[in-house]
Amino acid sequence: MQTTFTLNPFDLPKRWYNVLPDLPTPLDPPLHPGTREPLEPEALSGLFARECVRQEMSSDRWIDIPAPVLEAYRRWRPTPLVRAVHLERALETPAHIYFKYEGASPTGSHKTNTAVPQAYYNKLDGTRALATETGAGQWGSALSFACQLFGMDCTVFMVRSSFDQKPYRKAMMKLFGARVHASPSTETQAGRDALARDPETSGSLGLAISEAVEAALSGQGTKYSLGSVLNHVLLHQTVIGLEAELQMQEAGEAPDEIIACVGGGSNFGGLVLPFYRAARESRRPTRFVAVEPSVCPSLTKGEFRYDFGDMAKTTPLLRMHTLGHDYMPPPIHAGGLRYHGMAPIVSRLVADGVVEPVAYDQLCVFESAVLFARAEGIVPAPETAHAVHAAIESARECARAGTQKTILIGFSGHGHFDMGAYAAYLSGELENARTSAVQAGGPLAGARLYC
Ligand SMILES: *Cc1c(COP(=O)(O)O)cnc(C)c1O
Repeated sequence: MQTTFTLNPFDLPKRWYNVLPDLPTPLDPPLHPGTREPLEPEALSGLFARECVRQEMSSDRWIDIPAPVLEAYRRWRPTPLVRAVHLERALETPAHIYFKYEGASPTGSHKTNTAVPQAYYNKLDGTRALATETGAGQWGSALSFACQLFGMDCTVFMVRSSFDQKPYRKAMMKLFGARVHASPSTETQAGRDALARDPETSGSLGLAISEAVEAALSGQGTKYSLGSVLNHVLLHQTVIGLEAELQMQEAGEAPDEIIACVGGGSNFGGLVLPFYRAARESRRPTRFVAVEPSVCPSLTKGEFRYDFGDMAKTTPLLRMHTLGHDYMPPPIHAGGLRYHGMAPIVSRLVADGVVEPVAYDQLCVFESAVLFARAEGIVPAPETAHAVHAAIESARECARAGTQKTILIGFSGHGHFDMGAYAAYLSGELENARTSAVQAGGPLAGARLYC
């Protein structure tokens, strides 16, 4: 039986899909952080490449992928679609489980799909350097790689806790030529202020964003780049779903359920949006499931309202599901899912009942990740493991009920830089941390954390 669907390299999609004209309800406009008036596109051009700003508000359904971006994509795209037959057997489920493997990218996650076009569009504008932040290190690695392709400098502000915990992510960024600062740093006023308040602080994503924005605004020929949340980022990621559509056809199946994890919503949007369009046209019922960690539950517990993207309240206000811009999630291992907000597109689809959100505890998530790794021989990133867990739960339900279903998992990245997290899980440290957090005071006190 054929279990891997790779596509002919010439079948690489030539256009991205823009969902904005096909949303059930139009998005609310981003607002200026000072005046709270709808933002003019020019206000964003100081920070982002011109073409990215145009794409952010475009009503064109299809947007051409530029030739140099296609050429770069060909290094690792099309990525494989794999039928997880060994996992199906281990679960004794009648369900068919497929996963779209974005771990095949040069830096190990889907993030390169948007890093490359963002770097390219900046190069066209004559930008000399890009500044960004990174939490777990995947976005920083992807942008470092992309900047190097187009001969631009890259500066990454890496949240102090990850900087200390993930020396190999830092080494990879340097390998690709980036400058990496632990955030808070002494390079920016925002960083110096934070260090003056607390020299021992382990930093946060919100603070690192403030530093990167400041560095972009003060640096000569420097712009800023964001790895998730925004419309143009989800647009670039639709290359995942467009390939997967062709590959599912090659497999002779159509997914009943598509499951991906959500941090800012970009890998989820990238996989789901093309299938959403097809399901809308054919009226074929399809479940779209967004999986988040139970300790950072923006979609399942947050409010759908305007909020800032960063802690220092410097970014435009976006209408999205949010836990509040000052929310500090506990330090779970899925660092890429520790964001207080959510992509406005994904938020809108949840509010309109198209996307179903679920939240899971990291202990159950790691249990499923180990099961997946032992069956398929691929170690999921802790973020990806959330989607894997939800799919396994669904396949188990099929086994209990004796129903057949086709499940497609967005496999956003591999976990080769996350062995510390797996070591902690295998030694029982995660379980102990959870038990004490639930028993002690604080945000998890008395919480019931479900598998
Ligand atoms: C960054 C990241 C995520 C979360 O970001 P989204 O924008 O929600 O996709 C998920 N998985 C991996 C492997 C990541 O690197």
